[in-house]
Amino acid sequence: MTPTPAQPSSPPAAAPAAGPAALPWQHRFSALGPQFVAPIAPAPLPEPYWVGHSAAVGEALQLPAGWNQADDFLHALSGNVLLEGSQMHASVYSGHQFGIWAGQLGDGRACLIGELAGQEIQLKGAGPTPFSRRGDGRAVLRSSIREFLCSEAMHGLGIPTTRALSVTGSDATVWREQAETAAVVTRVAPSFIRFGHFEHFSKSGQTEQLHQLADFVIANFYPQCLETDPGAPRYLALLAAVTERTADLLAQWQAVGFCHGVMNTDNMSILGLTLDYGPFQFLDGFDPGHICNHSDHEGRYAFGQQPNMAYWNLYCLADALIPLIGDEDATTEVVDIFPVRFGQSAAQCLARKMGLDAPDAKQKALTDMLLPMLASERIDHTIFWRRLSRWAARMDDEDGLVMDLFANRQPIQTWLYAFESMHKALGLPDVSARMLRANPKYVLRNHIAEQAIAAAKEKDFSVLQQLQQVLVTPFEEHPEHQAWADFPPDWAAGIQISCSS
Ligand code: AMP
Ligand code: MG
Repeated sequence: MTPTPAQPSSPPAAAPAAGPAALPWQHRFSALGPQFVAPIAPAPLPEPYWVGHSAAVGEALQLPAGWNQADDFLHALSGNVLLEGSQMHASVYSGHQFGIWAGQLGDGRACLIGELAGQEIQLKGAGPTPFSRRGDGRAVLRSSIREFLCSEAMHGLGIPTTRALSVTGSDATVWREQAETAAVVTRVAPSFIRFGHFEHFSKSGQTEQLHQLADFVIANFYPQCLETDPGAPRYLALLAAVTERTADLLAQWQAVGFCHGVMNTDNMSILGLTLDYGPFQFLDGFDPGHICNHSDHEGRYAFGQQPNMAYWNLYCLADALIPLIGDEDATTEVVDIFPVRFGQSAAQCLARKMGLDAPDAKQKALTDMLLPMLASERIDHTIFWRRLSRWAARMDDEDGLVMDLFANRQPIQTWLYAFESMHKALGLPDVSARMLRANPKYVLRNHIAEQAIAAAKEKDFSVLQQLQQVLVTPFEEHPEHQAWADFPPDWAAGIQISCSS
């Protein structure tokens, strides 16, 4: 791929501009009515330019060829104009933030423009909405690139996520701790409905809308619940399905060392997708106490706390559904499947990381021994698993490559011996190849994202493009990009990322 040229283009004629051809837009969510969404007007982003795009997402949306070079798309995806047939809406939701009821929040800087090929398209950072509160409705280039790349990375890792179609930038100034420039990330998902949408209608006593929302989610995204009797049983089935998906998502986060950073109920997807990338981080050293969000002083969302926090959030969702279900005990019983489901799902993920198809007693015992060893020396999570995967085939025949990671070598030596004996006893074929498919070589570490951001600030988007290519295929070797698989440099420890960006 060649770098995308940074060519400011002249502002378009008055909105709405016609698209290259009318696209088959749908607006199922905004059709729920004015209690759900507020219309918003375009807020011009001066002289936008392309920063990055995903051809695969464009194809999934069935966009016309060449969309990523077309001026009308550039302006539409920057929030300047409407493509023919699209609309602009912000949705209202509420939520618990850091454990405290925060009341009404809503899309303060996200603008839903409609749905193509069953996927909602949302512009993040396209200007103020009725829910912006004290915010400016904007997003900065830095955080937009982080969201774009991490959506790609999670997709590449096979972890459910919202996806990103594009990032467009502008030299317009946005003030954060310092002057930065504005950008819009266009993200895509079957739905952006959050736990907080349910909390909103429940807490405000809008039971009819709560019904409408639950029925909408069931009909469109959980049709299997239609097999359950209508009324309370069906809403309980929905709660169970969301609980399972959330547990599965959390198991995958933990397995890959992903720290979300702001697991407030307004950032929890009803579809079990990774949603709202902010101060996220992939672990460097394995540390259950690691806090990636500089504003999270108490460590509420520390890495090892994430499953419990998801469980807590599911209680909020369950509470919000009580007006539909009428029986608090029944909702509690359903949400309490979380620990079991998470345990099963996490065991499955760890089994795969260790080269097995399914958990096994010996392997579970080995995992229980391993994780405290990794934690006690803060062993680099990604590098450890990747080296172990290669060691399993004696690709790097020096035992040292795994053991070198540890200051205290004796326990890991014993462990490696036990690991090898387990595999000898199981006699599974291709253990190393399976492990290499379960343990990525590349994750979006903070310092790597910083490299793409620094280049993009100079209008060089080639780093972002190369990184994107590596991240969508993170299990491949990509020897030319080995540096992105190495230990983080010392300066990476100084990167501080907080909520506001
Ligand atoms: P977040 O922490 O990004 O999940 O955002 C929490 C809430 O603040 C959501 O309602 C966002 O829409 C809103 N918000 C965050 N940043 C801005 C901004 N720059 N302008 C307006 N609203 C914002
Ligand atoms: Mg959010």
